[in-house]
Amino acid sequence: MQYYYENYKEYANKLREKYKKVDYKSNIKQEFIEIKEFQKELAKKISFTPYIYNNCSANCRFCSEKLERTSGQAKDFKLSEKYFKKLRLILSKLKENRIFLSVSGIEPLESLDFLKEVLQVFKNWEEDGGRIEEKVIYSNLSAGTYNLGKIIDIIKDYNISRIETSRHHYNEDVNNNIVRFKNKDIQLNRNYENIVRTLKNYVDIKLVCVLQNTGVNSYEEVKNYLKWARNNGINKVVFRELSLFNESISGNESSNYIRKNRVPLIEVLKDIEDKAFTLTEILRGYYYFSFKYEYKKDMEVTFEVSDYEEMIKQHNKDEIQKLIYYPNGDLCCDWSMKNKIF
Ligand code: SF4
Repeated sequence: MQYYYENYKEYANKLREKYKKVDYKSNIKQEFIEIKEFQKELAKKISFTPYIYNNCSANCRFCSEKLERTSGQAKDFKLSEKYFKKLRLILSKLKENRIFLSVSGIEPLESLDFLKEVLQVFKNWEEDGGRIEEKVIYSNLSAGTYNLGKIIDIIKDYNISRIETSRHHYNEDVNNNIVRFKNKDIQLNRNYENIVRTLKNYVDIKLVCVLQNTGVNSYEEVKNYLKWARNNGINKVVFRELSLFNESISGNESSNYIRKNRVPLIEVLKDIEDKAFTLTEILRGYYYFSFKYEYKKDMEVTFEVSDYEEMIKQHNKDEIQKLIYYPNGDLCCDWSMKNKIF
């Protein structure tokens, strides 16, 4: 899969040649700090995910959580005081780091009491001198149909910086054909739109749309999606390519769907060149690329592609840029539970 990442490297260089003023950033060369207990060097600014495991309210056709990696999956772990004790211990080792707190896994907003306990650990750590640069929650917002008030309290009490919410089409039927919500209320655009409009009074909201043949699959569809987002007062949108995986993933519904329905991001990017989009920034991450555009002067639209195999390859080195804390108490350095470091 090296090939994929290399493709984007080449395309990014072409864009830099063409649009000389574009801001080019790379977080590949970072400052690292040695953490003896982990026997690894950790990036000074590190992404930390407390992986939250719930029964998801949806059943997305492309769900990467259902991909059967030979490297293992998160299953129903029993949470205990041991989990929180270890989380506090891990954080005590990270006093010299700055954390990007990325709350994800399987629908973190479906178990708010547990989420509050997790966020409280980070809050205590901050009060004790720990540094968190951003706190982002990833969610389909299904819980907003029955717990909106409590979600707002969490945003306020724990100073959440942003919610990135997935919605894969502006038409509710097309979206539901992809997402297959078990919660009927969130299937309806009018309910989802009300939740988003309410939450944006308290927190930055970014819409996340995964490009796929059965949904947003072209330049025209990208524009239609942005029109819908703008009508709902949202001016930040990210379009992502479906996950990239290799042969360690055995064939199942998700992997077959992904293989069949991939819309290569690069094709959409080529289509938007010189149109109403102005390229403002290219970010080269150690396993991903992000292309940021201004759209019609009032929207920030990002296009992202991540190559997880490139990420795993990078993590075989001793320099770590991402930490995932799983519900069983294992601290791993990527989405593979085999890569336990503590
Ligand atoms: S919302 Fe996320 S975790 Fe749930 S099924 Fe969809 S992709 Fe998977």
